[in-house]
Amino acid sequence: MALIVQKYGGTSVGSPERIKNVAKRVAKFQAQGHQVVVVVSAMSGETNRLIALTKEVAASPDPRELDVVVSTGEQVTIGLLSMALQDIGLRAKSYTGAQVRILTDSAHTKARILNIDEAPIRRDLQEGKVVVVAGFQGVDEKGSITTLGRGGSDTTGVALAAALKADECQIYTDVDGVYTTDPRIVPEARKLDTITFEEMLEMASLGSKVLQIRSVEFAGKYKVKLRVLSSFQEEGEGTLITVEEDTNMEQPVISGIAFNRDEAKITVLGVPDKPGIAYQILGPVADANIDVDMIIQNVGHDGTTDFSFTVSRGDLDKTVRILDGVKAHIGARAIESDKAAAKVSVVGVGMRSHPGVASRMFRTLAEEGINIQMISTSEIKISVVIDEKYLELAVRVLHKAFGLETA
Ligand code: ADP
Ligand code: ASP
Ligand code: MG
Repeated sequence: MALIVQKYGGTSVGSPERIKNVAKRVAKFQAQGHQVVVVVSAMSGETNRLIALTKEVAASPDPRELDVVVSTGEQVTIGLLSMALQDIGLRAKSYTGAQVRILTDSAHTKARILNIDEAPIRRDLQEGKVVVVAGFQGVDEKGSITTLGRGGSDTTGVALAAALKADECQIYTDVDGVYTTDPRIVPEARKLDTITFEEMLEMASLGSKVLQIRSVEFAGKYKVKLRVLSSFQEEGEGTLITVEEDTNMEQPVISGIAFNRDEAKITVLGVPDKPGIAYQILGPVADANIDVDMIIQNVGHDGTTDFSFTVSRGDLDKTVRILDGVKAHIGARAIESDKAAAKVSVVGVGMRSHPGVASRMFRTLAEEGINIQMISTSEIKISVVIDEKYLELAVRVLHKAFGLETA
């Protein structure tokens, strides 16, 4: 008998029929003698609908109240799934994040889980119940409802699996595993049987939304056995996220290609080329809690230089306002912004032992006439910022150039 945490995403619970199918799958696992804890997302489209509603009543909604509203989608699905389970003869009990006491910090809309009280869940499981927990939400120590950031139900699933020391955490979604790149963009993308935590962390942080990055961090930290599977297929092993690199097989150089459209580029032109300038530009941006991603400072001419960096698009206007405020003080000539930037990255632990990945990447993009605006590298990834209109082309040609569909 195993203890399994199963997380079902929005599409998987997107209609009453699909919720009934989830109930059948859960019943199958229980009938095999396993204890099952289920984490569900809101029905697909619901969280977007709720966010849009809040924007209709307030230009910039208060984050605490925003969380009160957007967390409700998951409350609907836990109730519906529990009913569907009861309807086919199982004992089931739903819990909101606050009821199961998923304690988080107070960073509304992007809260971090601090602690989970797993005792009531264990009692229910021992009584033979299926426990159904709302994903994406928690409660802070003042009792305010918090949410964990978009895609946060993955993190609820893995955090519960860690707290319960579950045998496996299964993430059921609308694809049958982690692919070499988003199969919606490249139909030839190949499903991976395994991917290392390191690679999955990079893929998630660079834009592959199949798993929320924090869920991967949790799984790595607490050694949770994590698997991504399809909720629409009866059979299949999905993709296992592994700790060890596969040393038996010839390691592919690149495991996957990630991309992110949510990039905006800002260039501060003609700043004095002297010590402290990066701090003077980025200090006020950091103080406003805005995450800066890629940064480049150009070679100076005549005592001045240009300084570029990227932020997420939602933060662009705010960042430009901040820099306009400090422009005179810094001595900058002008501030330019570009909303149509995108980032594409190649990821793979095999890069460590195979030189030439960067040159192959740059040559491939050059052959298509795609201009590289920024570059950043780590041991296992190379990212470039390009014009968004070439993003899909870039992903497709790189996928082919690194032989990902045939490996
Ligand atoms: P859920 O609602 O189940 O959480 P998501 O939409 O958050 O599902 O994540 C699944 C989607 O992630 C897929 O439909 C796919 O388009 C996208 N995706 C992006 N990159 C990848 C990848 N490398 N492998 C598989 N899916 C990916
Ligand atoms: N419902 C939330 C969202 O759409 C959380 C999730 O689906 O994981 O982001
Ligand atoms: Mg998701």
